[in-house]
Amino acid sequence: MERRVGNTRIVLVRGDITRQGVDAVVNAANPSLMGGGGVDGAIHRAGGPAILDECKKIVKEIGRLAPGNAVATTGGRLPARHVIHTVGPVWRGGGRGEPEVLRSAYVESLKRAEELGCRSVAFPSISTGAYGYPLEEAAQVALEAVIGHLEEGSPLEEVRFVLFSDTVLAAYETVLKKLKP
Ligand code: ADP
Repeated sequence: MERRVGNTRIVLVRGDITRQGVDAVVNAANPSLMGGGGVDGAIHRAGGPAILDECKKIVKEIGRLAPGNAVATTGGRLPARHVIHTVGPVWRGGGRGEPEVLRSAYVESLKRAEELGCRSVAFPSISTGAYGYPLEEAAQVALEAVIGHLEEGSPLEEVRFVLFSDTVLAAYETVLKKLKP
């Protein structure tokens, strides 16, 4: 499924983010930037130790990464040249700023991609695994955040959501269909 916003296409696919031939892939990291489970573990395994080396340097400089922020490293052995590490919110019922933090994670990641001169960037479904954010609500925030940012004008040609199961893909498709063109 595709939607065009300005000069950028938003594409929803089922797949594995470690195999995407895009300029940058976004990692749903945790504040330590030291790797973890889920998509984070998959990215470090597939990309190799160069990614963790750069993460360690970043943590030395700036400390832990606050939820809603994003930093870039090499993509190591991934097909993608860059990994943009962001931290989504842990779901604690929805009244503790979770939507704002999730929105910020997407927007800050898009800004890093633009700063790096990327033409294409791929996102996983941030916060909907171990962090427990309800899927449909997360899809709504994710798509609105990306569309809102692209409506301000962006050099990106493609923003790809790489969704790991049919269930996650279906949730994003349902939300994108409901959002006004
Ligand atoms: P979080 O801690 O932000 O919730 P998780 O990695 O636990 O992050 O889950 C986020 C989403 O990423 C989930 O939908 C999970 O199924 C998905 N996921 C796990 N591995 C991959 C992968 N290799 N490619 C794309 N998505 C993945």
